[in-house]
Amino acid sequence: MHDTILSYLQPLRREALGLLRRLVEIQSGSRNKPGLDRMAGEMAGVLGGFLPEVRILPFADNGNMVQAMTLPAAEGRKGIVLVGHMDTVFPADTSFTAFREDPERCFGPGVYDMKGGLVVAVYALKALAHLGLLKEIPVTVLCNSDEEIGSHASRPWIEEMCDGALAALVFEGGGANKDVVTGRKGRLGLELTVRGRAGHAAKGGAKASAILELAHKIIALEALNDGREITLNVGQVEGGIGPNTVPELATAALDARFLNPAGQERLERDLARVVAEPLIPGTSATLTVKSGRPAMPQSQANRHLYAIARAQAQIFGYDLPEELRSGVSDANFIAGLGVAVLDGLGPVGDLDHSDLEFILKDSLMERAALTAATIAALWNHGTRLENPSSCAI
Ligand SMILES: [Zn+2]
Repeated sequence: MHDTILSYLQPLRREALGLLRRLVEIQSGSRNKPGLDRMAGEMAGVLGGFLPEVRILPFADNGNMVQAMTLPAAEGRKGIVLVGHMDTVFPADTSFTAFREDPERCFGPGVYDMKGGLVVAVYALKALAHLGLLKEIPVTVLCNSDEEIGSHASRPWIEEMCDGALAALVFEGGGANKDVVTGRKGRLGLELTVRGRAGHAAKGGAKASAILELAHKIIALEALNDGREITLNVGQVEGGIGPNTVPELATAALDARFLNPAGQERLERDLARVVAEPLIPGTSATLTVKSGRPAMPQSQANRHLYAIARAQAQIFGYDLPEELRSGVSDANFIAGLGVAVLDGLGPVGDLDHSDLEFILKDSLMERAALTAATIAALWNHGTRLENPSSCAI
């Protein structure tokens, strides 16, 4: 099977790079609805070339999204879900729009994060179609358009489609050593608001300064960094109306990350304690969660899925390291459902979210072959995967 996959995919390298160029040249910043709608149309067209059930899901306030299925999946059988986002962090008026390549690398907006990953998924499925396997394997492809802004619109849909699935594969970019991602930290985006009492600065005596209280709280919050499991950053502060007025209001924006649900619990307990205890009399504080994703721990189910993928890589002649990544993705939500998930299956590259973003061209077909072999092997292992203790891999 592995030789058939490689000999099918290798001649398609140019064609795949052509698809990547087409996708990259469509400007699809998360808030560019016309661009995202074009992306959805393009992806639906490509997926419709070999999948029988393709739908564009219209969204009024976000870019449209795409759902594509093999027949067994369309008949309601739970199988394997492939997830990739079509949006990029680059706004509609960016000057970073061009696709270019040198002998080894391709550059362009989203080439690594993650239009390259969409191309990997497409060619992996084409290889499985060539092997005749898409007729039997329930595979669902979800392309969302709001990942870079928190997946608020797509999350319920992704969770519904992944709930009860055998496994999910996510196509964010791969690590520098071909790593795939078996775990991700969880994240909370928070806003701390401190209220005091306004007054004339010259008056002297006791004063309920919101900025002073916030300063104490920032020191207490930064002390929650434990150098290992929990990172917390106070990244933005605001407050007061001028030097001659005791500040009535001060706010801070925080980013907190944790390794697992226990870490999240501990963090939330510590945050509540810091918020509840004012050091400056007359002040009070509230903490609001603005955004968040649960942690994706390196669970037994994820590592089992990884072992299957790694075994395929070894048949192809290379090793596949695993990575615990600090950044979040849609894999976090899927892991939260208790579904086995493997992320980072996109091409190898780096410098995403910058205009130096690139991928290594050779990794495009390499990842497509890996994904195709992994899906086929996963399907063979299906029943054992549902009962990991009885599985030898
Ligand atoms: Zn991404």
